[in-house]
Amino acid sequence: MKSFRKVLYFNIPSRRGFINITPQVNAAIKESGIKEGLVLVNAMNITASVFINDDESGLHSDFERWLEKLAPEKPYSQYAHNGYEDNADAHLKRTIMGREVVVAVTDGKLDFGTWEQIFYGEFDGMRQKRVLIKIIGE
Ligand code: ZN
Repeated sequence: MKSFRKVLYFNIPSRRGFINITPQVNAAIKESGIKEGLVLVNAMNITASVFINDDESGLHSDFERWLEKLAPEKPYSQYAHNGYEDNADAHLKRTIMGREVVVAVTDGKLDFGTWEQIFYGEFDGMRQKRVLIKIIGE
């Protein structure tokens, strides 16, 4: 069995944002040479997510509004976590949207369902964050 590891770096110039990272994951699979196996993609920061959904801008603004209802950014004083930091909402949003995804690799490609794409979700940006790609297989 082969294994391959790669780290992606992101520095989103706003507090929140979604980026389609499917091209980077496809590039990593190609680089790995693995044709049959699994790819794990996970955020390496506790205020960012990796998730799978549709690359549709209306849906992304729906996510933003839904997450703001569940865990509003402000007022900062509503959260016990805030004090030295103001990012309690980002921790909660990360938990809702998830830490990682695992996708089957078949014939050297992501074995996706209809419209599935992999996204990086930033909830406390304007600083460097990391995403891990780990691929195992043959
Ligand atoms: Zn925090």
